[in-house]
Amino acid sequence: MSRFDSLTKRISLGECRCPGTPHADGDWIELRSHTPWGAIFNAEAADSLAEQFYIVALATIVGWNLLDGDGKEPVPITQQAIDDLDPETFRQVSTAVHVAVDQGNSLPNARGASSRRSSRVSAESPTQPIPTP
Ligand SMILES: [Zn+2]
Repeated sequence: MSRFDSLTKRISLGECRCPGTPHADGDWIELRSHTPWGAIFNAEAADSLAEQFYIVALATIVGWNLLDGDGKEPVPITQQAIDDLDPETFRQVSTAVHVAVDQGNSLPNARGASSRRSSRVSAESPTQPIPTP
């Protein structure tokens, strides 16, 4: 088994809301099951909560099937695209990211780094709203 953790999981965002509703199985986002340790590390050095969130979010989200306003092109996963999500979708995405961060914090090789649990990036309250940048 690889020493690189590349497990991902797909999370449903509900019914397709892309133009023309092309996704019969609904819209989804795919995330790494554990936020990469390096991203959590980098996020801890970030200056603001918003910056921390983007670092972990962009390292954690690996795909989604969301289409642009014309319903033709997949939207690349960028900070701008995350900003542009509607509040409900943003909340779903940020909750999923926080769960992955929490999983990343719980990786077996993170044992002994007990201070991580009190990190500013920790996902103690995944339902807490993320500050708007
Ligand atoms: Zn869709």
